Amino acid sequence: MEKTQMAMLKLVLLGPPGAGKGTQAKSLSEELGLAHISTGDILRQAIQLDSALGKEAKHYVDKGELVPDGLVTKMVIERLKRPDAKRGFILDGFPRNIKQAEDLDSFFAQEGYSDYKVIYLDATEKTIIQRLGGRMICKKCQAVFHMTNMPPKEGSRCDFCKSELYQRQDDREETVKYRLSVYAQATKPVVEYYARQGRIMEFDADRESSVVLKEMLQGL
Ligand code: ADP
Ligand code: ZN
Repeated sequence: MEKTQMAMLKLVLLGPPGAGKGTQAKSLSEELGLAHISTGDILRQAIQLDSALGKEAKHYVDKGELVPDGLVTKMVIERLKRPDAKRGFILDGFPRNIKQAEDLDSFFAQEGYSDYKVIYLDATEKTIIQRLGGRMICKKCQAVFHMTNMPPKEGSRCDFCKSELYQRQDDREETVKYRLSVYAQATKPVVEYYARQGRIMEFDADRESSVVLKEMLQGL
C-alpha cells in the first residue's frame, strides 16, 4: 500500500485484556503515522488528574467493570473529531460492547468512514494471566513494562521519563478474572458483529509482539 493511503488508515483493535492491544497499537501508530486513541489510557490519565471524568470513572475502572457507555462514547467521539485523528487513527479499547459498536458505526456513517478495518488479536487465557500479572505502568507517561517479558532497565523506574512504575489496581489476579468474564460477555459479541460485516483480520497474539506486529503490517 502507498504511504499516503497508509496515513489515512482507520483501524479498530479488538481482543481480550493482555492480548497486547496497547503495545501493538503504539507500534502501529508510530509505523503508520496514526493517532493512537486508547480509552484505557485516557481514563487512567483522567483518574490520576482527578478530573470530573476521572472521578466518575475511577470506581468502574478499579473494579474492572465497563465505564458507562454515555461517558466513554462521548469521550471517543470528541477525540475522533480532532484534526490529527482525521488523518487516520487506531482505536484501542473501544468499542467494548454492541451498543458502543453501533454508536461508533453511526458516527462513522456520518463522517463517511465506510472503509475502516478491524484487527482482532486473540490470546489464550494462560498468556493473558501471565502478561497481566507482571505488568507495570509508568505513572507519568503510561509506558508499559513487564517484570519478566520487558523489564525496566532501572529497578522500578520508567526507561523513558524515570518516573515511578505501578501495578494497575485492575491487574490484580481477582480483578483479571472478572475482566475476562466482562470480555467474554460484553466484548466477544463485538468480534462477531464485525465478522458479520466482513471486516475482521485475525492474528494469533500468543506469540512475541514483534512477530505479531510484522504480520499485521503485512496484512494491512
Ligand atoms: P485492558 O484491555 O487491559 O482490559 P484497558 O486499559 O483497555 O484495559 O481498560 C481498562 C479499563 O478502562 C476497563 O476495565 C474499563 O473499566 C475501562 N474502559 C476502557 N475502555 C472502555 C470502554 N470502551 N467502555 C467502557 N469502559 C472502558
Ligand atoms: Zn514514563
